[in-house]
Amino acid sequence: MEHELRAEYADGSSPDDIDPAVKTWHVVREGDGLTGMCGHELDPGAAVRSVDLWGTGKVPICHSCGALYLRESP
Ligand SMILES: [Zn+2]
Repeated sequence: MEHELRAEYADGSSPDDIDPAVKTWHVVREGDGLTGMCGHELDPGAAVRSVDLWGTGKVPICHSCGALYLRESP
């Protein structure tokens, strides 16, 4: 199953801002649309990144999503 990362923005920040503040990244299963694996609803305009960033420590990733993703990844 394919996964991707989708941004959750800090309070008062939105994807339309010039330099939006990302609070954390959630893991979204392909086909689940805008709902993170932890159940968090995400903005349709939220940035998307490759799930390859998971585990690199370069970006903050939702702990609940991370734990669930770990169980699904080979
Ligand atoms: Zn999450």
